[in-house]
Amino acid sequence: MNIVDLRSDTVTQPTPQMREAMLNAPVGDDVYGEDPTINRLQEMAAARLGKEAGVFLPSGTMGNLASMLAHCGRGDEVIMGHRAHTFLYEAGGVSALGGVHSCQIPNQADGTLALDDIRAAIRDDDDHEPVTRLVCLENTHNRCGGVALTAAYTRQVGDLVHARGIRLHLDGARLFNAAVGLGVDAAVLAGPADSVTFCLSKGLCAPVGSVLCGSHEFIGKVRRIRKQLGGGMRQAGILAAAGIVALETMVDRLAEDHARARSLAHGLAKLPGLVLDKETPDTNMVFVALAEAVPFDADQFAQKLALAGIKVGVVSARRFRMVLHYWVDDAGVEQTIQAFANVLRDEPA
Ligand SMILES: *Cc1c(COP(=O)(O)O)cnc(C)c1O
Repeated sequence: MNIVDLRSDTVTQPTPQMREAMLNAPVGDDVYGEDPTINRLQEMAAARLGKEAGVFLPSGTMGNLASMLAHCGRGDEVIMGHRAHTFLYEAGGVSALGGVHSCQIPNQADGTLALDDIRAAIRDDDDHEPVTRLVCLENTHNRCGGVALTAAYTRQVGDLVHARGIRLHLDGARLFNAAVGLGVDAAVLAGPADSVTFCLSKGLCAPVGSVLCGSHEFIGKVRRIRKQLGGGMRQAGILAAAGIVALETMVDRLAEDHARARSLAHGLAKLPGLVLDKETPDTNMVFVALAEAVPFDADQFAQKLALAGIKVGVVSARRFRMVLHYWVDDAGVEQTIQAFANVLRDEPA
């Protein structure tokens, strides 16, 4: 049976070209700054995002954490959305390890933070209050449905916070999905941010790693924090080699994942019993809920789909997330729609 794994784009395997590049990568000790492959990846990433410098990290979570720790001291405050990955899914690292206070304001359905909410959350200079140092945005916004934040919006937030002496960090785990989805350069989306992370190991298919980009001074600070966090790696050019192939070969093709996400959403929207968050997804994610009439909950439904080789992410009692990626083809999309139809008719999937 063909397995279609739609739980996440983190399940992607490296491509044959990546494995080849990994085998042949020149390497050195990166804590000494001597790994030529890592240095090349960092330069490529910084150039792609229009920043002075970049640093390779083992995960996106460490990239966000190191960035927030570099921007904020103990007792300082970072503003983020209540559905942000940094708030929901990073184990509270910024507070646990950095003593940084976080302030959550509502994410709008389109993934943005309302400018008025940001303005209202910024603290006055008052001994009673923490000092607001940083605002974090997320693009694409995962929990809001893989929605893409526009360059104009990001610019507005940048202008607003910079006028108050506050920094902007962009969690761009899927920034290239946003860029391809909107048809703009990633550097334009990253432009207003003082720091930006993106993941190599999601839709771009590299096995490990994220890059955090910013000014030379900022990245210098981050390198020391990365060491404190235990993220200083040695001959990790083996990993960065796959990241270089990812940037060179896997960015433009994200449009294929977005097209398949649309086909999947359109196919599922025709089935009675399913309610799509968005019938035309912005990027590579499809969120769908079971209508009240469906006599199973999401876990039971997912178990039935699994019998037909379809793996989906269960995100709440009656909701699923499906993420399209390089390893799901058109036949996989058809197989998924068919399996949903069969389970809804209470037939063997
Ligand atoms: C995946 C992801 C991250 C980083 O996650 P890691 O698994 O640590 O690489 C950060 N932000 C968002 C929005 C993500 O989806």
